[in-house]
Amino acid sequence: MKKFAAAALAALLSVCLFATALAYTPGTYTASAQGNNGPVTVTVTFDENAITDVKVGQNAETVGIRETAFEQVPMAIVTYQSLGVDVASGATNSSNAIINAVADCVAQAGGDAEALFAVEVVAEEEVVLTDCETDVLVIGAGGAGFSAAVSAAQNGAKVILVEKLAAVGGNTLRCGGAFNTYNPEGQKDIPMTAALKEAVEEVLAKENTSDAHAELKAEVQAQWDAYLASGSDKLFDSPEWHALQTLDAGDYIGDVKMVRALTADALNTLHWLTDNGVVWTDEVSTVVGALWNRSHQTPNVSGADIITALQANALAQGVELHLETKAEELIMEEGRVTGAILTNAKGEKVTVKASKGVIMATGGFSANVEMRVKYNGQWSDIGETMKTNNSEGATGDGITMGLAAGANLVGMEWIQLMPLNPVSGGGISGYVNSSLYFNKEGERFVAEDERRDVLAAGALAQTDKLFFILCDAEEAALRGRTEQVLGYMVSAGMMYTGNTIAELAQSCGVPAEALEATVAKFNEAVAADTKDEFGRTTWESAIDVGPFYASSFSPCVHHTMGGLQINEKTEVLDVNGNVIPGFYAAGEVTGGIHGTNRVGGNAVPDALCFGKIAGANAAAN
Ligand code: ADP
Repeated sequence: MKKFAAAALAALLSVCLFATALAYTPGTYTASAQGNNGPVTVTVTFDENAITDVKVGQNAETVGIRETAFEQVPMAIVTYQSLGVDVASGATNSSNAIINAVADCVAQAGGDAEALFAVEVVAEEEVVLTDCETDVLVIGAGGAGFSAAVSAAQNGAKVILVEKLAAVGGNTLRCGGAFNTYNPEGQKDIPMTAALKEAVEEVLAKENTSDAHAELKAEVQAQWDAYLASGSDKLFDSPEWHALQTLDAGDYIGDVKMVRALTADALNTLHWLTDNGVVWTDEVSTVVGALWNRSHQTPNVSGADIITALQANALAQGVELHLETKAEELIMEEGRVTGAILTNAKGEKVTVKASKGVIMATGGFSANVEMRVKYNGQWSDIGETMKTNNSEGATGDGITMGLAAGANLVGMEWIQLMPLNPVSGGGISGYVNSSLYFNKEGERFVAEDERRDVLAAGALAQTDKLFFILCDAEEAALRGRTEQVLGYMVSAGMMYTGNTIAELAQSCGVPAEALEATVAKFNEAVAADTKDEFGRTTWESAIDVGPFYASSFSPCVHHTMGGLQINEKTEVLDVNGNVIPGFYAAGEVTGGIHGTNRVGGNAVPDALCFGKIAGANAAAN
């Protein structure tokens, strides 16, 4: 890991490269090599003397494991011009797949792959953080932290960004990177169905819970009336409708002004990210629990794409990044946060004074069993037996440090379970549009387009807390799964398959007749395009093109909705609602936005919008 830490700190280090003078035929080459779940494809660009870019393309590697390899290995290969780089810890097979596929590209470009394997990777000792002064200190190098660091640096501040783990990225790197926003250009071809109209009417018909809710609803009602009068058959959306849906999905516990601040700035933030190197595909879809067709995704359907781009940007702007550097406590002077005490990569205590402010971006507490048991007010059992798909760094440190500095906490009892934690090791999930969930009895039990808390509660009530997601060959192809990848996933026991629904049922060990009846009924609902018996409203296509595929899932702890209370400027508030000067926070460490249930695809814009705002505001101090 040291080498990767050094790679991330490339701007600060002098790195010794022992690359032999190798000549390549300049150009871009593609190759695949076997990973954990099948072939991993890479595209490598060469100039005459060097590998200039390594991009990971199509693959079926496990989400939550592949991200560190996908981020670290290409970066290390380019930094050191070597194939003798370290594999990412916990992702050996994914790392080796990238290395071997790059070796193939090296050969295609006329280079000597053997020689590159022998190139020694030597990084000089890392620059370890010592007592110092800066303008802005950002704690936590995940989505919110990088966004804050880039934004603060762009606004002229000297920035130190610290990360307690040996690798950057946090949960943002592990997630699918889905970014919800109203986007008239991206959504312009999406049709509006009768069921979606019904969904709007339903939310507009709800009783007002506050003046702010009533005001927002009136705005959406006016937009809705104008939309109906226009006769449009394309998707209805607006920042206000996004806000109203977010509040509704969180049972109106979220702070209306904070939710509005988020949805009003989401499209602007998407464009800001694009300007700062993040690439989005053209497709706008509905990720699980997103409730509406406004989820934007990156080419690898991974938060790693976002982190890689923001990290490169941050380093280019002179942000000083220190890995294995843990913030322990905030320094308070006359009621103002003026810095932090940290443990550096050598285990020494150091003090960083930050004249313009400290931005807390340490993420949530899903990986801290004690904290989640203490605060949980939602689930019957969320202790040791429940897994989490979070980064090990999600231990609530920012909440603990914030509390000691007098911060108010909001929404701590609301903890999101991810309904879709893979049991069989992988599959095709995450897209609501054409998938069907069934239990061990071969029956559906929930509307697949429901809120995540409803999906999770539904799943926990099934036999063995387990369910399957079924899709057909058409959907698999749409999600980029080639026959080769599907074949591998089936042979590795990650997916079940059958040419008919009955064959699939047999392979999953569920009653065939029941599953056949379930699929037939589902297809009838798709044809009718209306709300079905479970309340599902989002339909795309019938499940009728064999072969059919299914894989098994069970819920796990995914996101903690509560945390430090902030205002629209991301200033942290104390228990009396007053701003704590010099103290900002963004991302999962904050509370008050998602209410009882976070909408799928809202966490990434939450972290990145408020990170950007925090950076700009701190820099302006
Ligand atoms: P968000 O989505 O809010 O950005 P992430 O989980 O993506 O949250 O990132 C939070 C990052 O903060 C993680 O990389 C985590 O390891 C890091 N972190 C957590 N606690 C500390 C701490 N005490 N000091 C430094 N970094 C921390």
